[in-house]
Amino acid sequence: MKAALAGPGGELLHQARRATGRERGPEAVVAGILDFAAELRAYGADRFGEPAGAAGVAVPGIVDAERGVAVYAANLGWRDVPLRTLLGERLGGIPVALGHDVRTGGLAEGRIGAGQGADRFLFVPLGTGIAGAIGIDGRVEAGAHGFAGEIGHVVVRPGGIACPCGQRGCLERFASASAVSQAWAQVCGDPGADAADCAKAVESGDARALAVWQDAVDALADGLVTALTLLDPRVLIIGGGLAEAGETLFTPLRDAVRRRVTFQKLPEIVPAALGDTAGCLGAGLMAWDLLDTAAPPASPASTSTASTAATAATPPEVTT
Ligand SMILES: [Zn+2]
Repeated sequence: MKAALAGPGGELLHQARRATGRERGPEAVVAGILDFAAELRAYGADRFGEPAGAAGVAVPGIVDAERGVAVYAANLGWRDVPLRTLLGERLGGIPVALGHDVRTGGLAEGRIGAGQGADRFLFVPLGTGIAGAIGIDGRVEAGAHGFAGEIGHVVVRPGGIACPCGQRGCLERFASASAVSQAWAQVCGDPGADAADCAKAVESGDARALAVWQDAVDALADGLVTALTLLDPRVLIIGGGLAEAGETLFTPLRDAVRRRVTFQKLPEIVPAALGDTAGCLGAGLMAWDLLDTAAPPASPASTSTASTAATAATPPEVTT
């Protein structure tokens, strides 16, 4: 878990990390989140003279942001945890926002990161899996059931490799950092080799690495073109482990997307700017949004906003 106290502009005033304790079960994880947030709030009160006025939390899996419920997360093992209510009670009744980890990270990338100022963007982190956040006018679209943006499960190779989601040929089976690691380990014969090693081999001109890399880039471009045909984003923000390859990824990716579009407008394709603090920053922004929209001005929540910090906790990213 990553947590922070965030100022009104999203600036991180204090950061902390600790393990989720997920090996002790979902109840321990929830208790850990509540303790972490309460300790951070107490620290803020000591350090800044006033406790956090609101809290934001981002969690993986399926999230019902409207009801404030963490519905399901495969790696944390929980089901239907009313996190917003639990946190509100633990934090003395301050307003709490609950969000999905990738969409929350996308909110931060869109507002204060790589998409700063873009009215329409798509944020796609390439990590263990692939997810997406659809940014529209300063907010991130969750969809009717909380599944919007799941570009990793767009089928790009019909009949291809089986995916845990039940489908075959999903994008994340070909273009996630894990998929590239797996493919490269198999080709180079070193079971410990990963996507970063593959990128290095590409840079040194290894033809086998180049073939693995180009397969991933082509699959990614197929998936992204489907997304941009539907969404027409102004900026396409690519993050996650695979994006750390820099131009080794972005140069062939821009080419591959350009070759595939016909009538569509080519969006700007840029690397994510906030790294693994995106979720934390986004949770802080959600918390500040609660305070900014809190009315009337005389309410206890908003009277204490001026110099107040918000807490944010983010358990690690996983695919659903
Ligand atoms: Zn899938």
